[in-house]
Amino acid sequence: MKKNLISEKIKYIDSSGIRKVFELGAKLKNPINLSIGQPDFDTPEKIKESAIEAIKLGYNKYTLTQGLPELCELLKEKYSKKYPENKPESVIVTSGVSGGLFLALISLINPNDEILIPDPYFVMYKHLTNLLGGKAVFYNTYPDFKIKKNEIEKVITEKTKIIIVNSPNNPTGRVYSKEELKIIYDISKKYDLFVISDEIYEDFVYDCNFTSFLEFTNNALILKGFSKNFSIPGWRIGFALGPNWLISEMIKLQQYSFVCATSIAQYAVLKNLNLDIKNYINEYKIKRDTIYNSLKDYFEIVKPEGAFYMFPKIPNGISATSFVQKAIENNLLIIPGNVFSEQDTNFRISFANSIENLKKGAEILKNLLKK
Ligand code: PLP
Repeated sequence: MKKNLISEKIKYIDSSGIRKVFELGAKLKNPINLSIGQPDFDTPEKIKESAIEAIKLGYNKYTLTQGLPELCELLKEKYSKKYPENKPESVIVTSGVSGGLFLALISLINPNDEILIPDPYFVMYKHLTNLLGGKAVFYNTYPDFKIKKNEIEKVITEKTKIIIVNSPNNPTGRVYSKEELKIIYDISKKYDLFVISDEIYEDFVYDCNFTSFLEFTNNALILKGFSKNFSIPGWRIGFALGPNWLISEMIKLQQYSFVCATSIAQYAVLKNLNLDIKNYINEYKIKRDTIYNSLKDYFEIVKPEGAFYMFPKIPNGISATSFVQKAIENNLLIIPGNVFSEQDTNFRISFANSIENLKKGAEILKNLLKK
């Protein structure tokens, strides 16, 4: 075929960085894999049993586009009780937080709109913005990964429409303080920006408190999910809380795209919404301490307060891409910073792994520096 059938839009998505890492990694026999973005604990038994029950009870059909009414009700009730001053107006159950993000950005972005994204960032923000013809504009959070008012104000223009925040953060593990989030809130008021707050790692917080953007307003989009806390990333379920004017558009679009979130997953989370996962979180704190203590004297590291990632800086100006290539040659899979950032100075470690593997991985990293 002579014609180029591929759309212009899809060319805006560049996945070459991460693909290269996975291609290199695929050649390894038994790598220490600290690149994985999902929990290493098995799905809790209660969740599995509820999913099996769902199938047997006949939850195998389409649900309403917005989600099972009982689940929507419970979610609204839960967060209205938690944030009585800013009760969420509306909710939609989505195909993971990714699904929610997709529906939201299509509903909000016009060509040339500028979307403020923290640098470093979760990859999807940049690529979906580009796909939709928007312009990804980055606000710098290096070197301590804190929210800085001047770094955000510096990049705001007439075209700025949305600001994305993500706490606990992927890839840095930072959990923003209430004061830091207040900076975002104040800026959003001053410049009339809409806030999207990705709170998927809400439960993975170790030695500080989590602040939801719902503490400031219900006129923002709050994205939450179950992939990580219930260890069901393959079940594709999450939800979004937000104002009616936006959620209603997202429901309209879901009708013609995802149709609904997985019915079985919806039933399983409905039955276990308040399942206690403290034991898992305590284990993740030990994992965090293990990897942080092993590496802190060798790399410049901001100690992760949440999620399950760490984003160390490589000393001596060595590029992350070349450092990661060396790590892979030594049987260790990690991800170079330029996959998550406009700069290539750091690398991401996921500590969602066994203590044994974390220790082995740390040894390899230390030896690489000695070389
Ligand atoms: N947001 C962040 C910050 C993430 O790290 C991820 C997954 O790694 C997602 C959203 C998407 O999660 P899911 O679509 O599985 O809910």
